[in-house]
Formats: sequence, C-alpha cells, structure tokens
Amino acid sequence: MTSAAPFPSEAPVYCDVSLPVPIDTVFTYRLPETLRRRVQPGCRVLVPFGARKLTGVVLATHSQPPVGQTKEALRLLDEEPALDQSLLDLGRWISTYYCAPLGETLRAMTPLAADIRHGRVYSLTPSGRDAARQLHLTETEEDPTAAILRMLDGRALSATYLAQKVNKAASVLRSLEKKGFVESEDVAAERDPLRASAARLRVEFVTRATEKIPKPERELLAYLELHPGQHNVAALEDTFPKASTAARALARRQLARLALEPVSDPISSKAAPPRAPHILNPHQQQAFDAVRLALSSRQFQAFLLEGVTGSGKTEVYLSAIEAALALGRGALLLVPEIALTPAVAGQFHHRFGERVAILHSAFHDSERAQEWRRIRAGEASVVVATRSGVFAPVQNLGLIIVDEEHDQSYKQQETPRYHGRDVAVVRARNGNAVIVLGSATPSLETRYNAERGKYTRLALPGRIERRPMPQVSVIDMRREFLETRKQATFSRALIDAVTERLENGEQTMLLLNRRGFSSFVACRACGERLQCVNCSVTLTYHKRDRRMLCHYCNYATPVPDCCPKCASEFLQFIGVGSERLETELGAAFPRARIARLDRDTVGGKRDYETILAGFRERHFDILVGTQMIAKGHDIPNVTLVGIVNADLGLGLPDFRAAERTFQLLTQAAGRAGRGETPGIVLIQTINPDHYAIQCAAEQDYEKFYRKEIEFRRLMYYPPFGALANIIVRSTNEEDALARSAALGRLLNPAPEGVRVMGPAAAPVLRVKSEYRYQMLLKTASRKRLGEVLAEVRRFAAAEKWGPANLAIDVDPMTLL
Ligand code: ADP
Ligand code: ZN
Ligand code: ZN
Repeated sequence: MTSAAPFPSEAPVYCDVSLPVPIDTVFTYRLPETLRRRVQPGCRVLVPFGARKLTGVVLATHSQPPVGQTKEALRLLDEEPALDQSLLDLGRWISTYYCAPLGETLRAMTPLAADIRHGRVYSLTPSGRDAARQLHLTETEEDPTAAILRMLDGRALSATYLAQKVNKAASVLRSLEKKGFVESEDVAAERDPLRASAARLRVEFVTRATEKIPKPERELLAYLELHPGQHNVAALEDTFPKASTAARALARRQLARLALEPVSDPISSKAAPPRAPHILNPHQQQAFDAVRLALSSRQFQAFLLEGVTGSGKTEVYLSAIEAALALGRGALLLVPEIALTPAVAGQFHHRFGERVAILHSAFHDSERAQEWRRIRAGEASVVVATRSGVFAPVQNLGLIIVDEEHDQSYKQQETPRYHGRDVAVVRARNGNAVIVLGSATPSLETRYNAERGKYTRLALPGRIERRPMPQVSVIDMRREFLETRKQATFSRALIDAVTERLENGEQTMLLLNRRGFSSFVACRACGERLQCVNCSVTLTYHKRDRRMLCHYCNYATPVPDCCPKCASEFLQFIGVGSERLETELGAAFPRARIARLDRDTVGGKRDYETILAGFRERHFDILVGTQMIAKGHDIPNVTLVGIVNADLGLGLPDFRAAERTFQLLTQAAGRAGRGETPGIVLIQTINPDHYAIQCAAEQDYEKFYRKEIEFRRLMYYPPFGALANIIVRSTNEEDALARSAALGRLLNPAPEGVRVMGPAAAPVLRVKSEYRYQMLLKTASRKRLGEVLAEVRRFAAAEKWGPANLAIDVDPMTLL
C-alpha cells in the first residue's frame, strides 16, 4: 500500500482503480469526502468511465493529484476489501504471467460481481398502489417520490437499483415506508426473473417472431426453437455472448419464457453415504506424515501425490485437512468442475460439519456470496471449490490440495487464461502454505517437477485392501472386421462381457467420447458433407432432437430430406456417437436398463448427480457416456468398463493428444473393480500398438511417462520449453489473414531464443463466425517469452486492434 499523504493521519483524496477493460492502465479517481476514510486497497468501487459506470478494484489510495482532470468515484461497494493484499499480488502475477489486463484479471478473481451483500427489495403496498395509480391520472411534476412510486408500480425493485435511478432514493423510501406506501424485505436473491442473474435463469421457446427483431435475439430464438426445453441462460452465454440480454428481450416480447432456477437445497450430509474415517494403510500413512510434517514447518512445500485409481487419495486429503485445522490453519481443496457433486461435498460436510464452505458454479450468486462471506470471516476454514475457488479468501491458508491435477478443466479458456493448478502453486508459495497435487495420471509438467526435486513425490502404488487393478484387454477392431466381415460398434468380446454382467447383476460402464448420434452426414451422390454455417466443421446428427448440431458454436438446423447441394435423397449418416451407442445397445440388450451421461442428457449439475446416483443405486445396468463417466466416480458394483473407440482423440493435431488419450483411458479403466469383485476393461481400437493405448492397457503410468517425456524433450514441448499460442481472430477472412501476416512479419526473423511456428490457419479455421490464425511460440526461457508477448501486445495496441482480434494463451492446454 503506497500512501503518499504528507501526514499519515490525513485521509487520502484519490484512489487508483483497475477496471475490467482491455487496456492495461490504472485510472485515478477523486474520492468524495464521505469515502476517504473508508476506501482501502482491494475494495471495489463504482466509477464513471466514459458514458458507462464500471466496477473496479482499488489498488492504492493517496493524495498525489494526478495530471489532468479526475472524475469522482461514485460508490464504495465493499466496506472490507474483497481482495486482500496477497490476492491483489496474486492478481498482478496472473496478469503478467498470462498476459491478461489486470482489471479483467481482478474481476475474474471476484466472481460474485458487485452484489455480495444481501439486497433489500421494495414493493408497493395496496395503498401505495392507489397512490401510484393516482399519479398516472394527474400530471404532477416528477419529484423523487413520484418517480419511485411509478417505478415500483407492478414490480419489486432493489434498493441498489432505485438508488442508481433516483436522487436520494434511500431517504424517500424510508419516508414512503413510514407512510405505509411501500414495504421492503431482505432477500437473498431478487425475485423478478427479468432481473435475476443469468446463472439463475432458464429460458424456453414460446413462439416465432412475427416482427423483425435484432440479430442476437433472432439467433437465440432460432436456437431455442430447435432445442426444446428450458436452458440455463448463463450456460447459453458460451455460445451466445449476449444471451442474457437477448433472453430478457425475448421474454419482454413474449417470444420466450423466463423462469428462475429451482432453489437448490443446501448440500447436506444427507446427500452422500457417509464415509467413516478409515485407518490409513501404510502408504497412505507415509504420505500423510510427510504432508503433516511440512504443515507444521509452516513453510512452502509442494507434493505430488501419485496414487493409482482406487488407492485412497481422498482419505489422505481428509487427514491432511484435519492436520491443517489442528494447526489453526485453513485448507482449500480444488476439484475439477465435473467432480464437485453433492456427494463429494457431502463427504466433507460429514467430516468437517459447519466449517466447510462449497463454492460451486451451480449455486446461486446469493448462495455463493454467503459461502464467500463465511470464508472471509473465518467461519469456514475448509473450502471445496472448482477452478475459480483458487481465489477464495481462506483465512490463514495453510494447505491447498488440487485433486486430479492433470484435469483440463483447471485451465480457463477465456481471459485471463490462467491454470488453476499453477495459480494454486504460486498462491501456496506466496503464503508459506503446503500444496498437494493429486492424480493417478499426473500431467507431464507436474511429474517432471517432481523428478527435478521441485515437488516431493509421494506414491500410493496399490489399491485399497490389495484389490487388484482391473484386467485390461485390447481388442483390435481391424481384426474383428476381418474375422466377422461386419462393421460393428461392439466387438464379440464386449457383447459377451456385457451379457455376463447382466446375468450376474453387475454393472457396466461404456465410454464413447463423442456426443450425438452420427458424427456427420454426407451425400452419396456428390460427396457433400453438411457443414456448420459459422464454423469449418461438420454438423453432428442428434436423433432425439431431430436436428443437426455444431459442437463448436451450437448452431442447429433441421435434418435435411435431401442434399442441399445436389438435391439427391441419398444422405448417409456416418460415425457413431454416444446417443447411437445407447440405441444400438438397447437393440442388442433389449432387457437391460440403460442410462446415458453426456452433455445432451445433462442440463444442469443436478441431472448429472441424478443419473449417477441412479446408477450407483443400481437402477440401471449400463451407463453409457462421454468422458464425463471417466472421472473420479467410485461405484463398487461396476465390474466392466468398455471403451468403444479409444482412437477418437489420438489423431488430433495437438501435442497433448497422446497424454490426453492415456489419461482418459486410464481413468476410465480405473472405474472398474473398485468393490469386492474384481473388474475387467475392454479397449476397442484400430491402433492397438500406439503407446498411449498400450500403456493405458497395462495401467503403467511410469512407462507412458518415460516415452512421452522423451518426445517432449526432442520437440521442445512442455515441460522443456515454455509455450504460448497467439491467436489472431476476425470475422473477415482477409482481415484475419492480413493481421496474422503483419504479426508474422513482426516476429520474423524470430526473436532470439524463441522458435516461432506459423502463422498458420488454426486446425479449425472458422469458429463462431471468426476466422482464426495462430502462431506458436516455443522457448526455453520464460522471461524471453514474456518479453516477446509484451511486444506482441504493444504492436496490437499500436495498430489499434480490437480486443477480439488477439488472444494470447500462455501454457495452452490445447492447440485446437
Ligand atoms: P482414489 O481417489 O485414489 O481413486 P478413493 O479415495 O476414492 O480412491 O478410495 C477408494 C475407496 O477406498 C473408497 O471407497 C474409500 O472409502 C476406500 N478407502 C480409502 N482409504 C481406505 C483405508 N485406509 N481403508 C479402507 N478403505 C479405504
Ligand atoms: Zn449431394
Ligand atoms: Zn458452428
């Protein structure tokens, strides 16, 4: 904190504010008298910015008059800093390391927007309504009282909103309340769907538009028409950046219906079968002892907990958290998005009771805000959260655990493109905390760090109670074809294995990492493949909804009767997705009870949990799904895991293709035989000799690591070189090309110590109507990388590129 005030007792007159704008500048505002003693670094303030009002984070307060005119800050949003000094520092680090503007970074770190406090909502009483009606009849002058009565007619509005619209709203409301014209209530969340946050809203198609409506609304409406049912508005924002505004506008026009998400019951220990604490086995004990020792030294130390599937990592986490609490320190457990189910949360409640806070994106803002406050107040000292929970204001943080540290969902795919695991390591280091990274299939980076002694490796080499690892067989689908002369989805061995499970009352999981019914539709006459209008990819056929869908932008269109190019009727549906798998399975096993888990069957987190719970309780014999079924689940009665097509991810033009395939197959295989009865795994493939498949079949991480790390070393890929992907985007192809060429010239000859690949068209050239060209930078020196990327950003700024034209992805998880 820099305070340049001549006398320390004098209140600062100015504050430096970081705003969520794509320019990396700090803005100075004058503080109104009333705020001078209240504003602290880390607090959020509302400030005027051009014609808009923006919420920004105060970085410093001082009394140094800036050059030029300053505007006055409007409002203080936090009485206590939303980000303490250490989180502000972490934000600065992220902003530099990931080349993201500080303001946008800080905003991402305070996900609760500006409404952390409960709101007071006002509405009219019957006599207030009469008074308001009266106003409509008489032409009175518009004073604040009349304005408020008018605004409240027919709806309830929050105090915050009214204060923004009307002068002296607070005192007017007080007097109106005294007169009995308005009543107020404290609500955790606002009730008017039109005003609720996108996360709490569902939208549904009602009718087609008869008039002309703006493009964002038109596109959303078309999508809703083709996708019957209710859609979470926040989720739609992935595809339609303006979904929230458009949905509200459609609702006002009565073309769509809005509804509030049902209030979720707070996660309670009821949700999960309680896990009694186990007595740690010797390997677990050894690992725990090492972590406990580090905790008591109160110094930074990083561990890799490498434990095969079913080795009992969770039990080690629980013991470590207990040890941290016993030392009076807080603990943070990060899990991949998909793994944070009520069942998992329930385990923690069961063990730690009220001290647990859960930060889950499926929760309402108000619920998250409440958890956040409990954390900041030190009431909750154990936090279980997904990626952005790495910024939770845990008091006296002593331990961070990152479960399934290899999981891709830790990497944020939009600005700031940070990696939650890596940020966790930095946070632990800054705060003298202990960090444990757990996985059965550690990322190459983490394992390499352990090898170099940066992290301490702890191993859980066997399953709990000496349960055997599942027996894995690889089925060569090329031979299967030669022998049967049939292009079948299921091999004979898989059919037999499923039959046997059904007879024994055991359960099966079948993985096919591709959604939809058929991968694409082609014309037999002219060869045309049906493509997305926004992206350079083929459309996937979704049978249940009778539509063709783009998996990149969610564009949907009805299934055509004939080829759009040559009008031939001979359309061929090619490739198998999870939907078709379910159908074919139903045909092969008419009596089996089958459930499917993929993004089409899972609308919200709740569906996910319902399907899984149903499977766990044996309401289904077979669970079919995409990678969603591979992660973390512990369902003892599953004795067969089948991987229908192990090759799907292998051919992708991405240096992590092998690593990802290995991880997926190993994790999926790890779902088998976790109970008393041993399990088997069948992997169907046409690449039986590929090392990723072989090593997964042998459940041999070590062997895979050795092989893969050599490839990375030779190719200078991470962990040997630092990598950044520069993506140039434009809705106009020539423009994208011209910009990327200009950037190419800037980096040619390549800056010293840096290899530059490209510019080249991205593997999928066009996504969501944007053409994308990319350049990959590789270097042995992080410092060099930072310098070159800074130069790239200066160049883009000097050339007046828009914020959408340039995306920089440091440590990219995928190059697609
Ligand atoms: P992982 O996360 O390593 O795949 P889990 O933590 O899910 O493994 O543990 C697998 C199973 O073993 C769970 O059902 C858990 O309750 C059980 N378990 C863990 N530790 C012990 C132990 N020390 N003794 C007996 N059972 C244990
Ligand atoms: Zn055709
Ligand atoms: Zn598309």
